[in-house]
Order: sequence, then C-alpha cells, then structure tokens
Amino acid sequence: MLGVVRSLNRLECVTETLRAALNALASAAPEWLRMHADPAWVERYDRRASDYDVPQGEAKRRAHAEQIGRDGHQLLAAITAPGAPTWLREIPAVELLRQVWLQNFCLVDKALPAGPEAGEPGEAARLVQWRTNQEGLAPSLLMAASPYDPEVHYAKKRSTTWIGYKVHLTETCDEGGPHLITHVETTPAPVVDRDALEDFHEALEAKGLLPDTHLVDAGYVAADQLVASRKKGVRLLGPAPKDYQWQGQSGEGFTVQDFLLDWAREVATCPAGHQSKSWGPDYHQGRTAFKVRFSTTDCRPCPLKPQCTRSGRRLLTLRPREEHETLEAAREREAQPTFSKEYQQRAGIEGTISAGVRTLHLRRSRYIGLAKTHLQHVLTAAAMNLIRLGAWFAGTPLARTRQSAFTGLMTLPISA
Ligand code: SF4
Repeated sequence: MLGVVRSLNRLECVTETLRAALNALASAAPEWLRMHADPAWVERYDRRASDYDVPQGEAKRRAHAEQIGRDGHQLLAAITAPGAPTWLREIPAVELLRQVWLQNFCLVDKALPAGPEAGEPGEAARLVQWRTNQEGLAPSLLMAASPYDPEVHYAKKRSTTWIGYKVHLTETCDEGGPHLITHVETTPAPVVDRDALEDFHEALEAKGLLPDTHLVDAGYVAADQLVASRKKGVRLLGPAPKDYQWQGQSGEGFTVQDFLLDWAREVATCPAGHQSKSWGPDYHQGRTAFKVRFSTTDCRPCPLKPQCTRSGRRLLTLRPREEHETLEAAREREAQPTFSKEYQQRAGIEGTISAGVRTLHLRRSRYIGLAKTHLQHVLTAAAMNLIRLGAWFAGTPLARTRQSAFTGLMTLPISA
C-alpha cells in the first residue's frame, strides 16, 4: 500500500531532506540558522526538489548531488561544532538529515594536485561523494525514502514498485458463517510476506484465534515457516516453493527426490547407485544447510550424467532434515487433487482485498507513520466486518468469484 507522501527518487529525497531540515531549523533556531546558513542555499532549497531542473548527463547529475552533499555536511558540521546548542541535534529533521547523509554520501580522502615546487606532494582533502552500488547502499528496509514520512520504504514486487507499507489480512472462511477478518498486520513495504507470518500467528494465538489450517498465498510458504507453523499446531496450506534447478524445470532431470538420503549416516545414494563422497554443513541464504557432493570418478563416466549434472560431479544442497522433509511433504500434498479443492477457499481473501481497496481506500495510507497507518487498517477491517455481519444477518449470500462470460460458457457441462 502506498504511503501518504509523494514518491521521490534518491536525488529528490536528499534534496527534500535538506529542505525539511532547513525549514525545521528556521522555526526552531532562526537566529542560529541565519548565522550559519550559506545565502546561496536560498536559491538552491527555496522550492521543492521536483521544481528544479536536474542537470542532464551522469557526470553533471553526480556533481549536482555532490553539491547538495557538501551543503548538508556543512550544515551538520555547524550543528555538531563545539559551542552549538546540543538540542539542535535532537530535532527530528536534523537527526533524519544525519541518517540520510550517511546512507547517500561518503567522505573520501583525495590528494589535491602537487604544489608549485617540483616533487612537493599534494595535500589530501576530504571530499563528499555520492554513494553508488560500488560504495554500497543500505537495504531498502533501512533506507529513508522520504523526509516527510521516515517510516515509508521503497519496495518492489515483480514489476510493481512503490514506497509505503504492506497490509496482511487474515479472515475466517468457514462454510455457513460470515467471513470475518480476525487479524490485520501492517509492516514496512520491503518485509517479505513469509517473514511476517510468525508475528500474525503469535497475535492470533494471543487472541485465541489461531486456525487449525491457514490458507496462504505462495509468498508465505517456505520450508522454515511450514515447520514453525506445524509446531504451533497450524497446518500452513499454500503453493510450496518450486524447485528452480534445471533438473526440476526440465521435468527429465534427477531432482533431490531421486536420491536416497540416509540422514543418520549422512550418505546420499544417487539413481546410478553411487554413494556421496562428502556431506558437510553449509550456510545457505542465511539458513543452515548441507552440501552433499558426489565423486568426479563416479560422475564423469556415468551414462546417466546428462540427466543429473552439467558440471564434473553432482552437488546437492539440502535444508536441515525437518525442513527438507516438511517441504517435500508439502510438494507431494500439492500434487493431490484434494489440495486445489481445499485451497479454493482462499479465493475469498482476494475479494476482501479488492473490496477494501475499492470501497474503503485501503490502497493508500491516510496518515504519516506505521502506527497510524496500522490504526487505519484496523478500522478498515472493523468496518468490513460490520458490513459483512450486516449482510449475513440480512441473509445476503456471499458473492461468487466473478467469471468471464466465455469461461462460464466453456465450463458448463455439455448436455447429451
Ligand atoms: S552423474 Fe554422478 S550423481 Fe548423477 S547419477 Fe551419475 S554417478 Fe550418480
């Protein structure tokens, strides 16, 4: 969901952050600011960043950004200089300026040209440099996206990008009863869905509303979440993560399911009957895993090698046993015809989100900050529950998932 503030690019964000700090200081410490502000700043920061023409060309844009960087550093140096009132540093816009400058600029020591006498070394100067990926940028969860709401962050989901938050809704879907929203979770936009799951299971448990089965979108299903949910007594039901290795994608290669795993002895046996050469711990994507290697002596001459590996020998990456087995079980469950029938019940939540967006303007936050935005979500959910209860008491049937006329026609049973 979109934050209430305008979306800014990184250059606009630093410019607006400096403008916001200057405006805050002009109100809080006008005399101090008049003594320390550069008169040229009036021309540079009088208007919104979007009202200025950004120079064309990368070198000119970079020089423009670094001019803003020097101005910000000059202001921060004056604020932190001995003798400056210490409370200036505690002004939120100043604290944000310090944070945004650390995220977007770095100080580099550069040698100035050599002096007039031959052989005289040049002096070193500390220059403000615009950060790029080369110097390293903070992850979007930490990177400020706007000085006017420091809690909105940039996020990307497939081809959609936005700055703001994410809302997660959980609702009942029991046959015969009203579908009521039981929990609302609001997170910063870059938090991936599966990382929010534990929080809403804890919240549902605290309310005594933890479900036996939780139908979720694919984004919430991961091996560790399947295990954690099961330990809480929740059956997490959703599309399991796919096997994206070429062996699984081609449909003809040997996937990990084709290997016999002896976890107790830490030995894997391949489809050709050979045993692994080593089985050792590894740290894969922040999670403990195992690397299981086969021998090149076995793999190179193996007639099954084209189905197994494109390198000299086969390497398997395994999750911890409990996660591995739970994920495999989830994939098997998904292949059963009963899965899609049970999972169909989740379709209602798409209607809930759609109604929230169209009727109650859930797409955009009305407020600054995560706490108020969450309050908006809770009130929206309460309003939807009241509407649903009203419809249920009035005997209004639940709306069916809409279908195009063509699909409706083609799915009709053919009469004899
Ligand atoms: S390529 Fe290696 S691991 Fe794969 S089946 Fe042949 S011997 Fe076994």
